[in-house]
Amino acid sequence: MSHPKDWTEEENFDLTLSQRTEELYRIANREPDANGMIEAAVLPLRDLVVFPRMVSPIFIGRESSLLAVEEAQRKGQTVIGLTQRDADIDNPGAEDFLPVGVEMAVGRLLAMPDGSHSALVQGRRRVEIVEFIRSVPYLKVRARVVSEPQTADRQTSALMRSALDLFDRCVQLDRSIPEEAHLFAMNISEPGWLADMLATSLSLNYEAKQSLLMLLDVRGRLQALNKILAQEVDVLELEDEIHSKVQSEVDKSQREFYLREQMRQIQNELGEGDIFTRDANDLKKRLDAANLPDEAKLVAMKELERLNQMPPMAPEVGIIRTYIDWILELPWSNFSPDNLDVKNAGKTLERDHYGLKKAKERILEYIAVRSLKPKKERQPILCFVGPPGVGKTSLGRSIAESLGRKFARVSLGGVRDEAEIRGHRRTYIGALPGRIIQTMKRAGTSNPLFMLDEIDKLYSDFRGDPASAMLEVLDPEQNNTFSDHYLELPFDLSKVMFVTTANSLGSIPSPLLDRMEVIEFPGYIEEEKLEIANRYLIPRQIEENGVEELSLTFEPDAVRKIIREYTYEAGVRNLERELGKICRKVARMKAEGKKFESAIKADAIEKYLGPQQVFQPEAERTDEVGVVTSLAWTENGGEIMPVEVAVLEGKGGLQMTGQMGDVMQESGQAALTYIKSRAEELKIDFEVFERMDIHVHMPEGAIPKDGPSAGITMATAIISALTGRPVFKHVGMTGEITLRGRILPIGGVREKVLAAHRAGLKTVILPEKNLKDLTELPKTAKSELKIIPVKHMDDVLQIALGKDAVIEPPRPKKQNTKEESQEESE
Ligand code: ADP
Repeated sequence: MSHPKDWTEEENFDLTLSQRTEELYRIANREPDANGMIEAAVLPLRDLVVFPRMVSPIFIGRESSLLAVEEAQRKGQTVIGLTQRDADIDNPGAEDFLPVGVEMAVGRLLAMPDGSHSALVQGRRRVEIVEFIRSVPYLKVRARVVSEPQTADRQTSALMRSALDLFDRCVQLDRSIPEEAHLFAMNISEPGWLADMLATSLSLNYEAKQSLLMLLDVRGRLQALNKILAQEVDVLELEDEIHSKVQSEVDKSQREFYLREQMRQIQNELGEGDIFTRDANDLKKRLDAANLPDEAKLVAMKELERLNQMPPMAPEVGIIRTYIDWILELPWSNFSPDNLDVKNAGKTLERDHYGLKKAKERILEYIAVRSLKPKKERQPILCFVGPPGVGKTSLGRSIAESLGRKFARVSLGGVRDEAEIRGHRRTYIGALPGRIIQTMKRAGTSNPLFMLDEIDKLYSDFRGDPASAMLEVLDPEQNNTFSDHYLELPFDLSKVMFVTTANSLGSIPSPLLDRMEVIEFPGYIEEEKLEIANRYLIPRQIEENGVEELSLTFEPDAVRKIIREYTYEAGVRNLERELGKICRKVARMKAEGKKFESAIKADAIEKYLGPQQVFQPEAERTDEVGVVTSLAWTENGGEIMPVEVAVLEGKGGLQMTGQMGDVMQESGQAALTYIKSRAEELKIDFEVFERMDIHVHMPEGAIPKDGPSAGITMATAIISALTGRPVFKHVGMTGEITLRGRILPIGGVREKVLAAHRAGLKTVILPEKNLKDLTELPKTAKSELKIIPVKHMDDVLQIALGKDAVIEPPRPKKQNTKEESQEESE
């Protein structure tokens, strides 16, 4: 062996690790004496535990240690590595070391630039210190060699296997342990060696290593190691879990970033640029240019800012964009100037509509007032009431035109949900503003003529009260800051001119009705319809169907035939439809080269429109017993309805059928009571009421009917049935009856009278108090109908049953057969 001085030379640094390890093996094992003792120099180890058979580099700083190593090398001897209990002690004495050390070989010393030395050492075997022989110039001890079993018993094998499994797991989880370490460990058969090898491979702390070194019992050492390994696996698994979670988060956002970047590149490639930023810039420009109220602008700008901070694919982007679009597209302060020329307005209204005097006058008054006092802010709220097809909507359009305002229309029919009026909050998916704001957007100006159709068809239920939302819309005190749930900004509706339409006033909530000025639109009589058809409907249908060049004309009789036999309505909607049908049929004949007459005559109507659609049953009827014509009011205008009464043997019951409502049934009861109380005067045998059943029926049983106005009709029919006196067929009647036979006024008189006229009745019996309602009746109707006001039931009976007719006491058997034969003949 060469002198250690040689090793300090530079070139020796180049020795490879394996060369240096080989050298270590050449250093001999000390043979123990007969007592199993060896004597050797001590190499004190701070911070380091070298296990038997393990190779480790060490630093030698202390002078005494260097001497000990040099001496041992010179003699080709091993040293005993003794671990200090406390690493900080510089001159350790006997008590400062662990009682167990490792005999080890020290390889060549290498001098370090800072004056210290390093060497490679390899542990050989555990030794137990017996005594310290001397302490200068270096420590020397006598120690007993610890012998360990070469093979494992069953229990130890199990411990070894479990340690190996755990170690395998550690190697998989901990990247700092080389994979070969497990392979190496599997090939170790000596239990103590395996324990030491594993202890070295793990990055254990100083104390743990010390205690493992001290464990001379191999099985105990393996047990301790198993525990340490299990803990290590636990910690490593936890670490791994955390790591993979973090990793997957990072992976996801990296992936998204990557994809987005790719998309941007693709868009650039396609010349689409960055659509998102372009869009945002576009919105910003529009917002700057738009004439918005401050509050709206502020909100829109804030939303835009939010938009800019969002990734383009965020789901909220669309929602915010739509919201800003809504703000931009609403007419906040875009007024159209009003045309307040009364003459011009009058002309427009006359040009488009026949009649409707009251409505036209009211509009002209409004325009006149506005032209005198342009600043007068308040807009009237008109409510057009009348059956369908009488021109409510089209008059609204004309008013808008004559005022120079935009026309917007929304139907409230069947609206149950307040949100339909006021919108949904933006937190709902797919939320939109309500119908009011939507219609304002469509109108495009902030002062349109806004028609709210079918305001009588609003419903209230658990979804909220749309009528109260409508109140806010129509209330001049509130509607300058109308709030829509979606918009969440006050919107000024105070410049809007609202016109509502309804078929009946009855079902409009009264607070709403209070705010409106009601203008009634009556139905038309035949003459008026004829006039409207000639002046407006025919020219319009000819134009709409493009048949101008055929120079079509409709003869008055032809139009009359359509009115009578093909339509049955208060308005003219169906009439217009039938006229349109004829125009199209003629156009087709012309196109097909067929012959046709350009003057449409009455007898050609059937050819165009098919067989007659509407029959006037009254025309065929004869005077009958127990059948009286009642005049009824429906949303479609007036209607005539027969009331039938049959008297049958029974127990004195009263049966009422035909979908009669409660009020109507009660009024039937009242009629009967009246009749009973007057039985003597009416010459009705009182017994009849106990022996007979009375059945009152109103045909068309599928249509619900209600109201008190059929009272006198039912009374008349019952009396006729009980007395066997027929009712004059041309008489129609309406009126409420009291128990005393007085007659009370009812509603819808004009519509009812018009219906009677339409149906060709000659006489109409009305409560006297209703006479005032007749002022607006067309003259023709008035002159063609005999309208008789009545106060008492006696008057009615005289008109309907005849003054001089003999009043016979009823003879039930005979009566019955008569009724039955009548039923059969019907
Ligand atoms: P409503 O709104 O009352 O249901 P519309 O306004 O829709 O009825 O009227 C139906 C059709 O009848 C329209 O084409 C309208 O022009 C026409 N019309 C109704 N009344 C008149 C009238 N007095 N003069 C001219 N045309 C009328």
